[in-house]
Amino acid sequence: SGHVIGHVIGHFIGHFIGGEWMTSESGRSYRKRSPWSGEVLAEVAAGDGEDARRAIVAAHEAFEGWAGALPWRRQQIFLRAADILERRRDEVLGALAVETGCGRVFGEVQVGFALKLLRQAAQLGYRPAGELLPSDVEGTRAAAVRRPVGVVGAIAPWNASLTLAGRAVVGPLALGNTVVLKPSEESPYTGGALWAEILQEAGLPAGTFNVVTHAPGEAGAVGDAMLASPLVKRINFTGSTPTGRRLAEKAGTYLKRVVLQLSGQNPLIVAADADVGYAVDAAAYGAFVHQGQVCMCARRIYVERPLAEEFTTRFAAKVATLPTGDPSDPATVVGPVINEWALALLERRVNEAVELGARVLAGGVPAPPCYPATVLADVPDEAEITQGETFGPVVIVEAVDSAEEAVARANASDLGLAASIITGDTRRGLRLASTLEVGIIHVNDQPVNDEPQMPFGGVRDSGWGRFGLGFAAEEFCELRWVTVRDQ
Ligand code: ADP
Repeated sequence: SGHVIGHVIGHFIGHFIGGEWMTSESGRSYRKRSPWSGEVLAEVAAGDGEDARRAIVAAHEAFEGWAGALPWRRQQIFLRAADILERRRDEVLGALAVETGCGRVFGEVQVGFALKLLRQAAQLGYRPAGELLPSDVEGTRAAAVRRPVGVVGAIAPWNASLTLAGRAVVGPLALGNTVVLKPSEESPYTGGALWAEILQEAGLPAGTFNVVTHAPGEAGAVGDAMLASPLVKRINFTGSTPTGRRLAEKAGTYLKRVVLQLSGQNPLIVAADADVGYAVDAAAYGAFVHQGQVCMCARRIYVERPLAEEFTTRFAAKVATLPTGDPSDPATVVGPVINEWALALLERRVNEAVELGARVLAGGVPAPPCYPATVLADVPDEAEITQGETFGPVVIVEAVDSAEEAVARANASDLGLAASIITGDTRRGLRLASTLEVGIIHVNDQPVNDEPQMPFGGVRDSGWGRFGLGFAAEEFCELRWVTVRDQ
């Protein structure tokens, strides 16, 4: 049926190590279910530290060959991979829907990003590899030479499974590194095995890219093996701030450099002079695309008081009409949340806010496996939902005396990923933007945007380091100082 994923070994999703599909050393596996229908989509290899170590060794053995491959050869592989993904587009959209509950709109966003990522990465091998530097030592020529680091460990989440695994892997590969990817247990296919299928068919040499899957609750065994291995030179992690913090603590023990892309509590600020129709549409997309399960989603909407009532009324009316249901139906806007645990958390946090005095302006009543698009107002600061990141289709609307007050409130949170300001006065928007402590800021747009060439990342507890193909070289290459002295 079209509802089955994993074409690798029947409907078994194995580890991809050294160019081969294989089971876990332990022989264990787990069942990946659809968040919408609950049906079993695939039996998946349940890996542990042993499997991770096998993959790390395979990646280490492939490194010299891949790092030395001529740029045109690497270029051909990424261009072919893009063509393969494009050919498989409909099938991939279907897999995203059944595996992660991702609807058509965000599925197209993910495939579009992945295609651009691969085609831009194909040029990366032709970037200058270093620079010559003047030296004060007589007869000496000096250079700063950029070299790939070796094996990169990539830990990716399930939410934008295709794009976030893609950017964790493709930039490091294109710079000449080899990679071991650990997908989330919720997206072993679109966030893992699918990339292996595509890159293998495109001709990537065996061992250059490896995938190790694991059962729910067992990510730590694979992650710890990556941290502990001296063969792994960098780790990039995309996920929640609490998990990222634990990873960074352990990384300190091993002095392992990590790139961390973590949670957001992203504000969308609507100034009194904003075009209200535009602001309502932008906010609805920015808060509820992919059921609010994107790290950049708007979590708090601050509206300057003169516009607050009109904006809030129109926004709540629009949100109440968003169709909820099967993510494979193109008419659906709000599909299922990823699992029962996520649904229960949303329910608990919204109920707690309501008990503390919040008003529900739209949604608020779970429709398992979906949680409807929900708008809250009058949420007191002590409510759990205002603290950290609540990953789902719930947004808080709040009137403020001024956009400056909104900036101050946003800066008072620990997180600093993305922010948006919508205003008729672009100069004021830019002035406000410069005072927000975030890594990404959009003036007159909603916050859920990404392009592979942009410096993507947060500040404060939203993480360290930047993805973005031109910028990833800072993270996934080592600069070496080389001198040559005339004899
Ligand atoms: P999300 O809410 O996006 O799932 P998580 O931080 O839980 O955020 O997950 C992001 C990624 O981190 C997933 O691949 C998950 O399996 C992985 N992960 C969770 N716990 C650990 C851990 N202890 N060590 C390494 N990776 C982990």
